[in-house]
Amino acid sequence: MSHAASNLPAPPLRHETTAGNYFVANYPPFAFWKPEYVSEFEAALKRPPSTLDPRPSPSFGQYVHIPFCRKRCHFCYFKVYTDKDSSEVRGYLDALLAELAVYAGQPAIGGRKPKFVYFGGGTPSYLSPDQLKFLTDGMKHLLPWDEVEEVTFEAEPGTLTDHKLKAIRDLGVTRLSLGIEHFDDHILEINGRAHRSKEIARAYAYAREIGFPQINIDLIAGMVEETEDKWRETVAKAVALQPDSVTIYQMEVPFNTGIYQQMKAGGKLVAPVADWETKRAWVDYAYRAFEQVGYTVTSGTTVVRDPARVKFVYREGLFSGADILSIGVASFGHLNGMHYQNHHEFQPYVDAVTAGKLPVYRALTPSAEERYIREFMLGLKLGSVSARHYAEKFGADPRVQFAAPLATLKGWGFLSNGGDRIGVTRAGLLQIDRLLHEFFKPEHQTGRYA
Ligand code: SF4
Repeated sequence: MSHAASNLPAPPLRHETTAGNYFVANYPPFAFWKPEYVSEFEAALKRPPSTLDPRPSPSFGQYVHIPFCRKRCHFCYFKVYTDKDSSEVRGYLDALLAELAVYAGQPAIGGRKPKFVYFGGGTPSYLSPDQLKFLTDGMKHLLPWDEVEEVTFEAEPGTLTDHKLKAIRDLGVTRLSLGIEHFDDHILEINGRAHRSKEIARAYAYAREIGFPQINIDLIAGMVEETEDKWRETVAKAVALQPDSVTIYQMEVPFNTGIYQQMKAGGKLVAPVADWETKRAWVDYAYRAFEQVGYTVTSGTTVVRDPARVKFVYREGLFSGADILSIGVASFGHLNGMHYQNHHEFQPYVDAVTAGKLPVYRALTPSAEERYIREFMLGLKLGSVSARHYAEKFGADPRVQFAAPLATLKGWGFLSNGGDRIGVTRAGLLQIDRLLHEFFKPEHQTGRYA
């Protein structure tokens, strides 16, 4: 942890959007997960479910990575393939089920059934109804879904025919997450998105008609050629749809994106997208527009129409250290006290599984202190946490454990403490990811971004 004094001015803003990752998704950072710890992970699978968590047993869910897309968006930094034919896709689905079969019999799973299932990508809706049925039938056979509270499915609007949407609903999907990103056709095109606004309207209307319990839409503030007026129009259109929740990302330009390749080719250090202050102002504008019609801001990236009804079980699990059995190329999960991540490349992943081996590429056992840092930081992303909750779970009051970074954030004006609650101000929430670096242990301080 850094130990800055509490009366410092706010951390300097890096104004322009330069290349790099902004989002804090896990802790310790992925760079510290190592191939040499994979054998430790294999040993952890041989033990019954962890008792690290004082609750009876950690909640358990599944993540499935579908790495296919119709085309690669220029801002995409995920491992995706746009050139696989149907036999390769079928081979991948076979590999997913073979991987799941290896895990299903392990003592670490202990016969548990998933409480949540998340299909992410890539584009899960790239798969045909038959392929989806084959995959989910196989999954349910290995680990039944009869205790599942939520099944989330990420979808690209242009892949959604009525027939496919119906098939997705029939599989048991409860939370449809539509990757809309923007409503303006020029912005969608210039950023390399495969879909257009007409497809959004059609897919959304039919998804509503067939009664998905929850529909989330994703937006991105600050795409290439975004303007104040276009953003306002996009927010107005999003509000008009009345989605159950909205996830709003601020455009970042990691090194493995098409945009960065263009920057490099042109010798440019600054990405051709809005600066961070502008992106934060645009997200704030969207928050206020949704609040005006009754939505609640529930994290640095989400607004929800009815928080009493709309839950996000996957995120609750991810943020609170649940066991998440993740399968698929490059996917990362957490089982029995260990982080792990699969091979990044398609063929090594498929080959490993086909040979009856686990396709795990790197792993890490976070220490008790690191687990505490992880959960507390992720909790702050939600905007407000209960000190008592963490004190009971980790045996130390967070106001003592994290006294220095909390004092730093307070000194910068980003905390709003009150009784048991440790809250983050709106200004803090709009830049929460860069603030979380204050909680990192010194050896994990590899540089703040933005
Ligand atoms: S649809 Fe999503 S995963 Fe696919 S290329 Fe675009 S950003 Fe990447």
